[in-house]
Amino acid sequence: MSNDKNAPAAAPVSNFIRQIIEADLAAGKHAGVTWGGKPGPAAAHAGAPADPAKIRTRFPPEPNGYLHIGHAKSICLNFGLARDYAGACHLRFDDTNPEKEEQEYVDSIIDAVRWLGFDWGPNGYFASDYFDFMYEAAQYLIRSGHAYVDSQSAEEMRLNRGTLTEPGKDSPWRGRSAKENLELFRRMAAGEFPDGAHVLRAKIDMASGNINLRDPAIYRIRKAVHHRAGDKWNVYPMYTFAHPIEDALERITHSICTLEFEAQRPFYDWLLERLAEGGLLAKPLPQQIEFARLNLSYVVLSKRKLIQLVQEKHVDGWDDPRLPTLAGARRRGYTPEGFRAFAERIGVAKADSWIDYGVLEECMRDDLNARAERRVAVLDPLKLVIDNYPAGQAEECFAPNHPQQPELGKRAMPFSRELWIEREDFTENPPKGYFRLFPGNSVRLRYGYVVKCTGCEKDAAGHVTAVHCEYFPDSKSGTPGADAYKVKGNLHWVSAKHAYRCEVRLYDRLFKEANPGAGGRDYLEDLNPNSKTLITACLEPALKDASPEARFQFERHGYFVADRIDSKPGAPVFNRTVTLKDSWAKGG
Ligand code: ATP
Ligand code: MG
Repeated sequence: MSNDKNAPAAAPVSNFIRQIIEADLAAGKHAGVTWGGKPGPAAAHAGAPADPAKIRTRFPPEPNGYLHIGHAKSICLNFGLARDYAGACHLRFDDTNPEKEEQEYVDSIIDAVRWLGFDWGPNGYFASDYFDFMYEAAQYLIRSGHAYVDSQSAEEMRLNRGTLTEPGKDSPWRGRSAKENLELFRRMAAGEFPDGAHVLRAKIDMASGNINLRDPAIYRIRKAVHHRAGDKWNVYPMYTFAHPIEDALERITHSICTLEFEAQRPFYDWLLERLAEGGLLAKPLPQQIEFARLNLSYVVLSKRKLIQLVQEKHVDGWDDPRLPTLAGARRRGYTPEGFRAFAERIGVAKADSWIDYGVLEECMRDDLNARAERRVAVLDPLKLVIDNYPAGQAEECFAPNHPQQPELGKRAMPFSRELWIEREDFTENPPKGYFRLFPGNSVRLRYGYVVKCTGCEKDAAGHVTAVHCEYFPDSKSGTPGADAYKVKGNLHWVSAKHAYRCEVRLYDRLFKEANPGAGGRDYLEDLNPNSKTLITACLEPALKDASPEARFQFERHGYFVADRIDSKPGAPVFNRTVTLKDSWAKGG
């Protein structure tokens, strides 16, 4: 089934992967691929109809952590290619390692891929479902003289592997007969030996210039319970053996992975060729293509570090809005559209490079600018009293929901005698160029009246506690004659009596250094101590009804989202997604 439900891209930019796919399509390389409707060996696809999907890609996460922004690049790439070339993209849980995998991770991965806007249709798979085939494949390699059981210790194997400049040495067990190897391998599988006693290795070339071809291990003993297969297995396939087989069983055409697997490609091809020779797999075989992983400044994308940040409570869980996990990004208010635009903008390349975090934020701003309605929020409130406005009176002012989209209409904001303004919008001693409130100066209260400042009140310590002013009744925005007032300052405000007071979380970058832990420092030392600031803000009353995940631009402040977890009906709390301008840019 094609991924036609997946969101369309804005005119995709060509890249080397697209060129390979287009050349393959032009040459009809996969035209003869048959698809039996589900993954399986050659026999399962023999006689099946030609594959209706022109290409097959896959996203193969290991369910041992939450997906992060780097995975988003891979997801957008794989699902995007399937969408653009009338193909299919599989979601495959690469759960061949029994030790670390958990259902919680499987669920979070499904959520994240769906949230990004992608749909794998019927093509959701678990690599552990192929264990029987893998075991068969290993036995085939033994029978055909392409694999043997090695009984060296791990240390001996390491010593005999050789180096980049020196060839390895053959294991003393390399000459075992197929019969003996089969017998031993079956006993390994039956649980007769402890972990590490033997390992099954491919028999290729201990002198190869590519260390990955020096008889790589393909099966090891692990007496572990698997989250899906239970305790059926005492042997588990190595990743480098399992992954190519998974691809081939699923009839993947283009197997896209990150650059660190480049040196594994010869083994990937060797293995699949051997199994195809034996009639276990159907040709044409999948082609592995490597691209540069995403490196993003100001975050860490290593699973080990993310787990540490969560477990040691440097953040508030996997979906902490400061984490680069997709669950965190979602809570932060980042959008799937923003991620897809980001993936397009950074493109794919064959050489590693770093992307500045500001690029991701810019993609989010662009998307939010287009979609987020405007609202007014006072984050650091100071009381403004309009002494000549009748106490007890209230009226409505009308504010546009989106300056560039008049069709989104206007909403009413109550106006009354006492308002909240930002503390920074008043000063007694204005510096040059300050156009906001100071004694004697006039400003416009946005969408409302022009007021003239008359003075302020202070507490014993000299802190300003309230500002006083007088308004001009004929100056209301949108009424005839209002334009006659020429003022330079234009302040946002919220009626004190009507304000919705609530918690707002001002999130900032989790790390204060672009490259956390650079130069041998502990990366934890680079945590930004100001990455989360909790405030109580005064919001315009319309925000009280915001539903979870509703996104807004708070005028002059940035983009905010109603937290999807902590918001209650009629009582949302807000997270700052991103400021209006990049305060981290160099020189900014
Ligand atoms: P591990 O070290 O546990 O393998 P991983 O980050 O590679 O960690 P996987 O679950 O194996 O995690 O990743 C799933 C897919 O996402 C892989 O195809 C991998 O290449 C891709 N991927 C992971 N990190 C990045 C990244 N930073 N940029 C692009 N793709 C990535
Ligand atoms: Mg990986």
